Amino acid sequence: MKEDKEIYDLIIIGAGVSSTFLCLSIYKINPSFKILILEKNETFPQKVGESLVDLTAVFVDSLDIKHLLKAHTKKTGVRFLFNESNQNDLSGIAEFASPTLPGLINGYHLDRSIFDQQMLDEVVSKGAVVYRPVNIIDTSFRDFENILKIKTGNVLKIVQSKWLVDGSGRNRFIANKLNWNFKNIPLKTGAITAHFKNIAPETTWDTKTNAYWDKNAVGLRKFSTTHLMRKSSWWWIIRLNETTTSIGVVFDKNKVHFNDYENYFIDQISTDAQLSIITKDASRSKINHVEALPYVCDKLYSKGIALIGDSGAFIDPLISPGMELIGQQSIWLAELLTEDKSNNKFKANAWKKYSKTFYKAYSSRLSIYVKAYDFMHSYDIFSAWLKQGNYIYFGWIVFPSVLFKNRLKEPLTFNLIERIGLKYFTKRFDKIIERRTAQKRISVIGKNEITYSSVRVPKNWRFIFVPIHLLFKSLWAYFKLELKELKFLFKP
Ligand SMILES: Cc1cc2nc3c(=O)[nH]c(=O)nc-3n(C[C@H](O)[C@H](O)[C@H](O)COP(=O)(O)OP(=O)(O)OC[C@H]3O[C@@H](n4cnc5c(N)ncnc54)[C@H](O)[C@@H]3O)c2cc1C
Repeated sequence: MKEDKEIYDLIIIGAGVSSTFLCLSIYKINPSFKILILEKNETFPQKVGESLVDLTAVFVDSLDIKHLLKAHTKKTGVRFLFNESNQNDLSGIAEFASPTLPGLINGYHLDRSIFDQQMLDEVVSKGAVVYRPVNIIDTSFRDFENILKIKTGNVLKIVQSKWLVDGSGRNRFIANKLNWNFKNIPLKTGAITAHFKNIAPETTWDTKTNAYWDKNAVGLRKFSTTHLMRKSSWWWIIRLNETTTSIGVVFDKNKVHFNDYENYFIDQISTDAQLSIITKDASRSKINHVEALPYVCDKLYSKGIALIGDSGAFIDPLISPGMELIGQQSIWLAELLTEDKSNNKFKANAWKKYSKTFYKAYSSRLSIYVKAYDFMHSYDIFSAWLKQGNYIYFGWIVFPSVLFKNRLKEPLTFNLIERIGLKYFTKRFDKIIERRTAQKRISVIGKNEITYSSVRVPKNWRFIFVPIHLLFKSLWAYFKLELKELKFLFKP
């Protein structure tokens, strides 16, 4: 490699959110960090990762880019619709509703083709150099000396940096080159997705009434992230704007089998009681298949190289933890990289701590999902599961992160007692669903049955009562479930 070299503090491969979240986190600490981003595509396609959850909203707020969200749709909450009997008249649909109430934080539905571009423009305005479209022709990785030969347009360039970050998503450009492999994990899910134009109005397929939502939420039910819960699978309905809606299914690969993913998707949307109405007159984009959703690389960094976002790990899209984890990684990596530059010293222990915490967080999160696919179609069991999730999510992550900015970088991890608790509850839920399946029973659902779990982030000291309140609500939901089962056991 004889050409003149361009030298940077950091080169990032890929210009998705991992890359831009990291850049902005670095510039917050050191605005003169020299960053080069290499992106292979000229424009960003529409992609999944469209529901921005509360914690990601707190993170985005911390980067001072809230203004970018104005181009996107304000998310009004999350809803889960159950149709356990799969009846066609839709009158037996039950709902778990978690409306967003006016308060400090708000999620969004993102058009990723727009958002990723906005984010890239933002980092360029702060000084990052971007080569795009780029083709990486040759690589040389040595400890703290990464050299890449690239072609952008008709120009060949040699670029070098002490640190190289792989933000190339599922392409895993560097991880693949270095043969960093996957760890074995106990969850096997896949997804099929598409975008639709002009889906049917909610009045034709949604629950008929939800007075509490209509009165209290920040906006209309149709702009909530809506989940249709089915056996071993769930569908998302995410309206990106008035005309375009993202629809996708995530399924347990041990239970859902098909030969052709397109046929499976089309068959489901034409036969499911709700989906067939939703998509009847809508036009559809190309159908995409993500064959294996969860994975985690057995290595996250070496001397001079680090993985971020989907290049290193992904859990499961249920309740959208994707960008949340990337935000936490960005803050952490930004601290490590800027410290490395200012001290010119590799802090091995700090990197080890980062990696250990990340893996612990990954397995903690994974443990939440592993059994959930067995009972996610059941209204009362899954509602109890969701209430526990709300307690953990808001009580342990969102509130502390709003109050203590340092907490924002800490991903959720469980200690031994918490792990035992979680194991107990998921085992119980699993046992109940097993028994119900054997006895051909489903949840007993009243007319217009709705479980609410709305959370307001108070602006004063009363916030401390919210986690306690959520804890009691989740325990109460669990006891109610056990009581129902007991009643059934003692029924003459
Ligand atoms: C089905 C599904 C649903 C999801 N839903 C949600 C959700 O609702 N909310 C949420 O927060 N997250 C969600 N996620 C996760 C989220 O989409 C991802 O975690 C996030 O988009 C990953 O961002 P990234 O920057 O790591 O990768 P990407 O967004 O994939 O970006 C990688 C970039 O690298 C570029 N690139 C690739 N190879 C090269 C190369 N060789 N040279 C140069 N550039 C390259 C690509 O062109 C791309 O621009 C979902 C994921 C899936 C699979």
